[in-house]
Amino acid sequence: MKPHMERIGALNAALVLFEWDDSTLAPPMASEQTAGIVGSLSAQLLAESTDSELKELLSEAERRSDLSPKWKAIVKEMNRQQRSLEKIPPEEYRSYRELLARASSIWQKAKKENDYAAFEPVLRQIVEYTRRFAQYRREREENLYDVLLKEYEPDFTCKDLDNFFGLLKKELVPLIRRAKKESEKIDDSFLHRSYDVEEQAKFNRYLAEYVGFDFDRGVILESEHPFTTNLHNKDVRITTHYYENLLESALFSTIHETGHALYEMGVDDDLTLTPVGGGASMGMHESQSRFYENVVGRSRAFWEPIYPRLAEAFPEQLKDVSLDDFIKAINKAVPSLIRTEADELTYSIHILIRYEVERLLMEGQVSLEELPRIWADKYEEYLGVRPTTDSEGILQDIHWAGGSFGYFPSYALGNAIAAQLYFHMRKEMDFDGLLREGKISQITEYLREHIHRFGMTKSSRELLRETTGEDFNPEYYVAYLKEKFE
Ligand code: ZN
Repeated sequence: MKPHMERIGALNAALVLFEWDDSTLAPPMASEQTAGIVGSLSAQLLAESTDSELKELLSEAERRSDLSPKWKAIVKEMNRQQRSLEKIPPEEYRSYRELLARASSIWQKAKKENDYAAFEPVLRQIVEYTRRFAQYRREREENLYDVLLKEYEPDFTCKDLDNFFGLLKKELVPLIRRAKKESEKIDDSFLHRSYDVEEQAKFNRYLAEYVGFDFDRGVILESEHPFTTNLHNKDVRITTHYYENLLESALFSTIHETGHALYEMGVDDDLTLTPVGGGASMGMHESQSRFYENVVGRSRAFWEPIYPRLAEAFPEQLKDVSLDDFIKAINKAVPSLIRTEADELTYSIHILIRYEVERLLMEGQVSLEELPRIWADKYEEYLGVRPTTDSEGILQDIHWAGGSFGYFPSYALGNAIAAQLYFHMRKEMDFDGLLREGKISQITEYLREHIHRFGMTKSSRELLRETTGEDFNPEYYVAYLKEKFE
């Protein structure tokens, strides 16, 4: 089985590198022709993953009772991938991948020019492919969205999500309204002064390293939309994005992506080059990034030892700003239009909106023309703000251009998992004390020990149960936000 695994791994790595390159270094005109190369590699990957010899080896292995937990997980994961891929006609899969390779630059241009009509035909094709593939893959009368969810959150169904988002809607919408009044009094104008981008880059490198990013095993570049990718636990790549007049944007993107990177860097050597070398689920991955970004990164204890360094990097811009002013400003919670710039309190409502829109799309209950309006209506209903352009509405996210329908809920689940872990960790250690003393590595060590090192050999809910002694429980998330914002 190993030679198969190696070939699949190598093709995956090549695709990861092309994706990385496309978002960071590739010249603007590259994508049209490079799409063909990506299409061909994807076709090879599909052929390798559904190879008949591999299929036999896998079903043989599935019947064996003497497999180690690692191999059991590998066989399970490879079987899952094979079963989901073999149901898709190879020609369709290839044209789908080619479509995706072109789509991101079309989306980028449409977003820049506020031109939904330019993106709509591509989006329509992606939605059609997504629905068709989900129909091929579904078992029995399974809901199409459940089929999509399985790719990212095998432990959760639409039913779980309906309960989860129902709780958030009930608890958070009124809390957001109450917090808004207090938040509006906070002056965060200093975050919008002019911050030299070179200086920001220097500080962000320091910040990533302080949080635990290992530059011997990782790289940071810039991209439009910050993300993390990796080849294995010794080659983990993250991006951030600098805005001259938005100091906090890059800071929290960097901390967020560093959280993802720590997860990948923390996977055991024994697992990293196998099919189960990634995170347990996207939600578990987001729980780590959002844990660092919010629970850690927006706390006073975290900034106490390092705020002087930030103030030193920007002596003019921050000369009249105390640590307390800074902490208040980075925790200001006022509803806004853009998910990636949203504060911690309103963030999951942005996700709730996307979840509802995606469900409608997958159930075929809405036309592509109506989408911008439905989007805007939901923003108005839940957050009290309404986008006036499509760039700050329906076109803001890269996900659909990448075919990632069903991914958004992972962000909100990640928030909830992060809060649950936090409540538990507070009982296990002097959380704030460690941060105040600059001993963040001890917090990371705990997460590595309980979560990171296992890769995908345990599922997200399994990890939660084993770490906290309790199944997924979103009440902690609500309690966390109430404690902080009320
Ligand atoms: Zn993330």
